[in-house]
Amino acid sequence: MDASPIHDIFVIGGGINGCGIARDAAGRGFSVFLAEMNDLASGTSSGSTKLIHGGLRYLEFYEFRLVREALMEREVLWKNAPHIIWPMRFVLPYAKGLRPAWLIRLGLFLYDHIGGRKLLPATKTLDMAKDPAGKPLKPLFRKAFEYSDGWVNDARLVALNARDAADRGATIRTRTKVVSARREGDLWAIRLEDVHTGQAEEVKARLLVNAAGPWVDQVLSATVGLNDVHNVRLVQGSHIVINKKFDDPRAYFFQNKDGRIIFAIPYEEEFTLIGTTDRDYPGDPHEVKISDAEIDYLCTAASEYFAQGVKRSDIVWTYSAVRPLYDDGASKAQEATRDYVLKADGGEGAAPIVNAFGGKITTYRRLSESMLEKIEAFLGKRGKPWTANAPLPGGDFPATGFDVEVAKLKTAYPFLDARLARRLTRLYGTRARTLLGLARSNADLGRNFGADLYEAEVRYLVQNEWAMTAEDVLWRRTKRGLQLSREQAGALDEFMRGISRRHVAAAE
Ligand SMILES: Cc1cc2nc3c(=O)[nH]c(=O)nc-3n(C[C@H](O)[C@H](O)[C@H](O)COP(=O)(O)OP(=O)(O)OC[C@H]3O[C@@H](n4cnc5c(N)ncnc54)[C@H](O)[C@@H]3O)c2cc1C
Repeated sequence: MDASPIHDIFVIGGGINGCGIARDAAGRGFSVFLAEMNDLASGTSSGSTKLIHGGLRYLEFYEFRLVREALMEREVLWKNAPHIIWPMRFVLPYAKGLRPAWLIRLGLFLYDHIGGRKLLPATKTLDMAKDPAGKPLKPLFRKAFEYSDGWVNDARLVALNARDAADRGATIRTRTKVVSARREGDLWAIRLEDVHTGQAEEVKARLLVNAAGPWVDQVLSATVGLNDVHNVRLVQGSHIVINKKFDDPRAYFFQNKDGRIIFAIPYEEEFTLIGTTDRDYPGDPHEVKISDAEIDYLCTAASEYFAQGVKRSDIVWTYSAVRPLYDDGASKAQEATRDYVLKADGGEGAAPIVNAFGGKITTYRRLSESMLEKIEAFLGKRGKPWTANAPLPGGDFPATGFDVEVAKLKTAYPFLDARLARRLTRLYGTRARTLLGLARSNADLGRNFGADLYEAEVRYLVQNEWAMTAEDVLWRRTKRGLQLSREQAGALDEFMRGISRRHVAAAE
């Protein structure tokens, strides 16, 4: 039990929204307790397409507010986390019979002009017969548009928000399920359960934030005890990962004949990421898995564009997640709004709850600011919005200074090979030095579990980022899972069973 049992704010959910809210609130001086029933980012927030984007497609659904806010966030987030977020150029081939060129041009004109773009380069037109981007595609695509958006390591964005929240005083508890929350006058009594030991605990808080993503309605009905709750529409999206299909650093935006679009994106140096799908999902969000039909859809859609088609046998990994979209009654899954809605209940003697429905990774920081406005309406003002100009852990270097940062790390640790120095800077930014400590050789980094995943990195993740299992390390804090064999992953699992429980308290 925490030393001070009455917290200002209790946050349910350690996805991007819960962790973003916890960070913002802790930074303003609120006492915050966050519980996540599994690992950080184990829900939707590690299963996205990983774009910091305005959402060109949403313009077709007149989502101007969302697109403008999201476009503005691109450079804000890049500046605050230039290790895990970076600009990416997208190549959108013009395809006869699909959206007319004037419509695409109009969309991209708005994209370039409504979002406060300063550092990101503007749209241009490409002659695909001459541009290297035309090379891997079928020759029938003669013209394309190239525009800017951003890339994010989604799962790490969550972990870094949690880390910063904890550094500012928040308690972050993973593998801790909120099993019930009941009002006791102007306080909430929240019952928690350690999912490993079954141990129960009760925490009191003045305000409850429900940021449970796809579980948000479930929390309201089963946990808080409200009847007949239906606020979100659960929409599955799946991705496939194949060996690198093209060398160009740019990503592709492909239009499909059904009106949808997919991306093909350079991924983890050696791979190409292709997705996503959109279909209503009736099951348990934790059980979500790519279907055969989705695999066929993605292979077929990508093969319409690539000169050498994408086959099932090319797939090295897949992942799926569930979008918790605010249910605005749209008929098709792909048309449901991607905007967020915050709804509050309580006050005047009844402890307040604020629920977050919908949202994007891209808009998590703005969602958190809006949430703080609602919170401060109940609990009183504590501080001004502050996160627009505050680097996330390891992100305290210039937005365009990534290569300089890699070089600095190599100078400080000359034994690091170039790939490892780059990988560590990508994941940890300036905190790579904390991870490497006094090491003077590879041997000082301890055991190599494979693909240059050393014991020092694993210990850092356990001590600083709440990693407890091999899966946390291999598929969320890093993507070394793409490189390690089953045996190597098994050895890491065994190692972590030995150390993680002892260190989890250190991370809190
Ligand atoms: C296929 C796909 C592609 C996407 N692509 C993009 C993109 O490119 N760019 C973009 O900006 N956005 C994208 N999104 C949207 C974005 O991923 C989501 O909006 C965002 O991750 C939602 O975060 P969240 O924190 O609300 O939910 P989650 O990440 O799901 O977090 C909720 C957490 O609450 C926990 N929880 C639930 N119940 C309890 C309980 N009782 N006790 C304790 N913990 C609990 C869960 O375990 C979970 O970890 C995409 C989404 C999908 C599905």
